[in-house]
Amino acid sequence: MDACGFHFDNSYVRKLEGFFAPWQAATVPSPRLLMLNHPLATALGLDIAALETERGAAIFSGNILPEGAEPLAQAYAGHQFGHLSPQLGDGRALLLGEILAPDGKRWDLQLKGSGRTPFSRGGDGKAALGPVLREYLLGEAMHALGIPTTRALAAVSTGEIIHRDTPQPGAILTRIAASHIRVGTFQFFALRDDRDKVRKLTDYTLARHYPDAQHTSNPYLALFQAVAERQAALLARWMLAGFIHGVMNTDNMSIAGETIDYGPCAFMDRYDPATVFSSIDSQGRYAYGNQPLIAQWNLTRFAETLVELVDPDSETAIALLTEAINQFPRQYTAYWLQGMRTKLGLITNEDQDQDLAQQWLTALEENSVDFTRAFRSLSTVVLGNPAALRSQFDVPAAADPWLQRWQERLAREPMPATERAARMDQVNPVYIPRNHKVEEALQAATQQGDLGLFQRLLDVLAEPFNERPGLESYAQPAPESFGVYKTFC
Ligand code: AMP
Ligand code: MG
Ligand code: MG
Repeated sequence: MDACGFHFDNSYVRKLEGFFAPWQAATVPSPRLLMLNHPLATALGLDIAALETERGAAIFSGNILPEGAEPLAQAYAGHQFGHLSPQLGDGRALLLGEILAPDGKRWDLQLKGSGRTPFSRGGDGKAALGPVLREYLLGEAMHALGIPTTRALAAVSTGEIIHRDTPQPGAILTRIAASHIRVGTFQFFALRDDRDKVRKLTDYTLARHYPDAQHTSNPYLALFQAVAERQAALLARWMLAGFIHGVMNTDNMSIAGETIDYGPCAFMDRYDPATVFSSIDSQGRYAYGNQPLIAQWNLTRFAETLVELVDPDSETAIALLTEAINQFPRQYTAYWLQGMRTKLGLITNEDQDQDLAQQWLTALEENSVDFTRAFRSLSTVVLGNPAALRSQFDVPAAADPWLQRWQERLAREPMPATERAARMDQVNPVYIPRNHKVEEALQAATQQGDLGLFQRLLDVLAEPFNERPGLESYAQPAPESFGVYKTFC
């Protein structure tokens, strides 16, 4: 075991030769540890004091390897905005290996921004401080909301200036993931018609992530079904939180069902299914409301890689996989509706609940109401005070028809109001990463080298459901003066 507490066990290296390039990180001039995720480090059994030395900064910058690491760049392909790129791969990331936590769980440990690799194509292999901190923050916010996600363990500045639109301070993110196997990893080998490797990857994935599917009559079909099920659950969580990933390319879809590759992602403010923040998504392919459809599209690309494994007769295989793909809307809607019921304070099921939820969303859209704030305010309505919610509508009376219908529905529920309100506050966050707060924190960090606002925002977002005095500004949408928000990769 490494002196910092890393306990490596590198199954990808051991079992999947030919799926990666063994590689080294570039050396950086002056690494400095900016952020270390203490709760996560503790959960992983790491030695915080040892990591907060020069050795920690050296490890997280790639300048030295922790004992047991076997660094590599993974190969993958992907459909980017619908167009196939047969060779992507880790162009600026390095898998150090897999670490075992004290609870026995296995995590990929990856550096992002650690220099060029054989997969870099035209890129410089580097990451800028702003996007590194953005991924750190958004991932932790998602985790605190209970949404499956990769997580940041550390961020270092490298002492380099890197070149984007403007010169930027260079940085490296260290993140953990259940794994970095993507839909695009399967595509890479399927596209090359390397059936042996697709089978190997599939068997590896079954053993690592879906052991129950191994013991079914058709493990390959069962794998597809299980991956689709996890994506349905994940997409429902995104939609219920107002999260927009921004770049749902097939190389950014994790087979393990985690949110991965935070680029131009952001949380929606006022409810509008057409919301897009990413500057590169000019067609709105990855708009908020399109996300479940895109997930199904990506899963179809995944299914295509499995045809030969699912049945020797390709027509039979395609029929089986098509049937599984066609289940996705139903699976997704079931997760979404169950989550929506809890957000609306319902514990029983009635046939009209989906329609009730849809009417609420329509009312929010028609009145340009902030998604997160409106849901949070519903608990105060339950407690007999509708004013805070009504005032969020341009014309308060516009809220009333739906509120009345909802109250009639609540009247058929067995739970006392105080308990209902408390439960709702546990699923409707008061704090999300507000776009203007994120920008303010990133600007202070990148332009003044001041991490104070970043740390404060991180602390606020660590308890998204727990409303605290003095944090009112974190619960508000951006002021008009903030203007139209654009995010960049
Ligand atoms: P992303 O948009 O971050 O999901 O990345 C898509 C592909 O581009 C992946 O193969 C990345 O490794 C690669 N990539 C992104 N940025 C860089 C960079 N600065 N240098 C090299 N490769 C990059
Ligand atoms: Mg990516
Ligand atoms: Mg509209």
